[in-house]
Order: sequence, then structure tokens, then C-alpha cells
Amino acid sequence: MYALVINCGSSSLKFALIETKNRQTVISGTAEQLNTPEATITFKHEGKNTESLTDGTHAGAFRAVFDYLQSRDLAGEVIAVGHRVVHGGEYFQKSVEITPEVIEIIKRCAPLAPIHNPANLTGILAAQEVFPTLPHVAVFDTAFHQTMPEEAYLYALPYELYEDFNIRRYGFHGSSHRYITERTAEILDIPLDKINLISCHLGNGASVTAVKEGKSVDTSMGLTPLEGLMMGTRSGSIDPGLVPYLVERLNYDIYELDHLLNFKSGLLGISGVSNDCRTLELKANEGDKRCQLALDMFAYRVAKTVASYLPALQKLDAIVFTGGIGENSSYVRELIMEQLAFLGYAFSRPSNEHCVRGTEGVIATSSAFGKALVVCTDEEGMIVQDTLEIIGKKA
Ligand code: ADP
Repeated sequence: MYALVINCGSSSLKFALIETKNRQTVISGTAEQLNTPEATITFKHEGKNTESLTDGTHAGAFRAVFDYLQSRDLAGEVIAVGHRVVHGGEYFQKSVEITPEVIEIIKRCAPLAPIHNPANLTGILAAQEVFPTLPHVAVFDTAFHQTMPEEAYLYALPYELYEDFNIRRYGFHGSSHRYITERTAEILDIPLDKINLISCHLGNGASVTAVKEGKSVDTSMGLTPLEGLMMGTRSGSIDPGLVPYLVERLNYDIYELDHLLNFKSGLLGISGVSNDCRTLELKANEGDKRCQLALDMFAYRVAKTVASYLPALQKLDAIVFTGGIGENSSYVRELIMEQLAFLGYAFSRPSNEHCVRGTEGVIATSSAFGKALVVCTDEEGMIVQDTLEIIGKKA
């Protein structure tokens, strides 16, 4: 039996067919450039195979996934569909089976995630049409962070903006931070409700979460995934005073501002070359100063954020690196750990260099602040786990 995991973006649909027993991914793939004439779908299954989509909508892409499974006699083996949903507002503390009421709430949360939630919803509706009798489960990026205390989730704005318009910090990458928490507790053999850690999810999008006794107590992303760390193309936190400055002095309009902060900034904006950490490392190695600066800024901001969570945690068992950069860039990890050396970490360069491309391990140890580890995240695994738990409960 299989569970199907769906992750819909505004112009993409990622899917994975996962065996329920051993949690192995059997087939995965991505449909890209949806709603354009160039829409394609790539299946990863005994090699890679890309096809163009005649119906390039989300529904068309989902139909192509279904046809692919059907032609291999696998569609009938699917017992549930798990959907990644970006924003659950304050409504969802955990994953839920999708009902008409849940769909209404996801719509209600759309103003908080105007690009993501409508896309997620499109994926849900397309999947429900193709698999009308199966249970569908929503797994929210925000849910894990619903345990944050008020002092962490409120902005220092008039309280009415929170009460009347739900303006607060929500946090994202919840499935990843939750997985990292559970997996690290397992690796270090510490009970889940006793572990204190700082989870650094460093990918194209990046966030750091402080976890106390297994629960999120602070995280670097806020109302939207723009707050916090410098990212691939996102600025992360800036002085809010910059916004009126750009509007008044440089005549930016709202769309240009949004584009600047979300798509032109971060590693790309500083380097002027790329948002891709691999490219920046190569160029920096060849002497490109701005690529080096981009990596240094990225690392400094991660280190600064990690250190800022020590008051919330007091006791620390682990700092964990995950995500494309966290799992693979030994260079960026070393830059970060150099800046955290004041916490007494003895850094092992050989272990750090060993932990790439799927190898997990401890890269530094401190007598006062625990270990620094590399752990490979598994957001899809979390979605499957929740989906199976929910349908199991129902049965
Ligand atoms: P997303 O947020 O899109 O899911 P990922 O978690 O896949 O992003 O991370 C993408 C980032 O990981 C890119 O910046 C990429 O350069 C970086 N990355 C992947 N492999 C390596 C590597 N071997 N060395 C350095 N960086 C890497």
C-alpha cells in the first residue's frame, strides 16, 4: 500500500508515492511551469523522464500523475493523500483530515499566504477529483510553531492588529523542524519532551527554530516566510523603515518592493551572481569577493540567530543543520561554527567534511552546549506519518 504526498506551488506540483510500510519513496516527480505552454512533468522512477503536459494546469498535472500510476497498476494501491499546506493560521495545531470546513479555513488563511495557500488548495481539489473516495490530509507548515509563547509570536505593534487581523508571527518549515526534533531526540537518545535544540533549516528558504522540551518556542520566520535569515533570493529581516524610504525616495510601488525583497535579494542580491550556494562557493574560491561576502553574511546571520535563542532555551542539547545547504555545505557550516566557537564547541573538520550527501553525524561538541549535528530532513516522511496516523485513528 502507498500514500501519495502532494506539494503544490503557484506554478509547480511535487509529488511522491511512498510505501506505507517501509516509508520508501517509490516514484517521485515535479510538474513545472504550470499554467504556461511550457508546462512539463518529470517522473523519477527507474531513471528520470520528462514529458510535456497537454493540459498544463494543476488539475492536468495531477491527472498525469494519476495516469502514470494507473498505467503501472499502482493507483488502486494508494490508501491516502497527504497535502502540504503552507498556512494554517491559528486554526491548526496539528495535521487534520480535509473536510469542506477545513477547505473553508484554508481559504480564510489565504490572505496570510497569498501565493501558497491558493496553490495548495488547487492541488487538494485536483487530487480530490481524481481520488474522491480516499481520505486527504492537510499538513501545515505553521502547525509546529503554534506552541510559541506570546512574547515570541507577537510583533510590537498595536495589539488590535493582532486581535482584529491576526497579524503575528507564525513561522514556517514546521514539518522539517518537527522531523529534526524527533530524529535528533532519537539519535541522542533523549526523550522527546526533554530535548532542547536549535534547528537550522538552511535551503533556498531558510529558518532557525528554538525547540524547548520538544516544542517550538521561537522561530525566525514571521507572518510570512520573508522574515529572519538571509535566504537564496529573500532579504530576510530588514529595517521596516527601508520600505517608506524606497517608496518615497526611489519610487518603488508595492509590486516592485515585493519583488525586490522576495526575488532579488539574499545570496543573489549580494553576490550579483546566483542564489545557489554551490555556485557561490566555486566563485568565492576563485576570488570573487561579493560571492564570498554573500556566504559570510549568510553564515553570520545564522550564527547570530542561533545565539539569540539561548535565553529562550537556557539548556542546549544540540544545534542541528539541515536543508540543502545545512546537509551539504561543509564550508557554510564551518563558517557558522567558527562564530559559535565562544560557546566552547570543539569542531571536527573531518566529521564536518564527511557529513554531506545524506550522511548524518556529529560535527562539534561542547561540554556546556551539547553537540552540533547534521541531520537529513524528511518533510515528506512527516506528511506520510501524519496522514497514516490520522487515517489509522479514523479506522
Ligand atoms: P528549497 O528551500 O528550495 O527546498 P533546498 O533545501 O533544496 O532548497 O536547498 C537548496 C540549496 O542547497 C541551494 O542553495 C544549493 O546550492 C544548496 N546545496 C545543495 N547541494 C549542495 C552542496 N553539495 N554544496 C553546497 N550547497 C548545496
